[in-house]
Amino acid sequence: MSRIAYVNGQYLPHRDASVHIEDRGYQFADGVYEVVTIVGSRMIDEEGHLDRLWRSLGELRIDAPMKREPLKMVMREVIRQNGIRDGIIYLQVTRGVAPRDHPFPDDIPTSLVMTAKRLSMEKAAKKAQEGVSVITVPDIRWTRRDIKSVSLLPNVLAKQEAKENGAYEAFQVDEDGMVTEGSSTNAWIVSKEGKIVTRPTSNSILAGITRASLIRELEKNGIELELRSFSVEELLSAREVFITSSTSYVLPVVKVDDQVIGNGHPGLISLKLRKIYEKFMSADA
Ligand code: PLP
Repeated sequence: MSRIAYVNGQYLPHRDASVHIEDRGYQFADGVYEVVTIVGSRMIDEEGHLDRLWRSLGELRIDAPMKREPLKMVMREVIRQNGIRDGIIYLQVTRGVAPRDHPFPDDIPTSLVMTAKRLSMEKAAKKAQEGVSVITVPDIRWTRRDIKSVSLLPNVLAKQEAKENGAYEAFQVDEDGMVTEGSSTNAWIVSKEGKIVTRPTSNSILAGITRASLIRELEKNGIELELRSFSVEELLSAREVFITSSTSYVLPVVKVDDQVIGNGHPGLISLKLRKIYEKFMSADA
């Protein structure tokens, strides 16, 4: 089945899909995005992602490209036309196309692009069984990390540094030596004392939808959580480390920089939380 992209009202072959050179997303990174997991052809946490999309748009004063219900219909159609069972849908909204000038242009339509792709659940499960490694890098981003903006250059540089060091992810570290989050994931530890810890939401991190759903599942299961920042020092001496995101779900980390975490295998709590999250996904799908 050939890939289909949605571009401003049209469903086009992926290879022919394009936007204008003066789209403000291309010239100024003046736009926002969402990535939604698809399991069994259904979206996981659809409402949470749409809430966050509307919030990001509101913070940047970008008009919504359409009302929420029609947008959901387009998302479903993109999934259907691409024949996706398990994978992701990517949705990008920019302020639109206008002659290049920094201030907001008057009365131009918002641009909306969607693509979808398959992901292998088997490969993801294998990665979770083995665990991944992470490096730490300085957090050089702007102070509105709560907005899911397409301005991702620091994240791109962080992920490239991870790749060049044979790691899966880079944890970004603020000026106080505290971990903010991964380049495209939220960061969690199980502390030396056995407590599950993740950073509270603020302008310093993206409020991950996977993070929020896992927190809800922890509450439902009566599992204690400490919402607080943790330092690199605490990270390196943690019993367990894991990350969450729409594409990683709950993924154990077995090495940070040169430090092996625990016995170098995925921790029992991380694996249990992945199971809990998988159960949530099958119920939501
Ligand atoms: N933090 C950052 C910087 C991200 O880019 C992402 C996802 O892309 C996340 C966290 C995880 O968010 P979610 O669980 O909504 O995928």
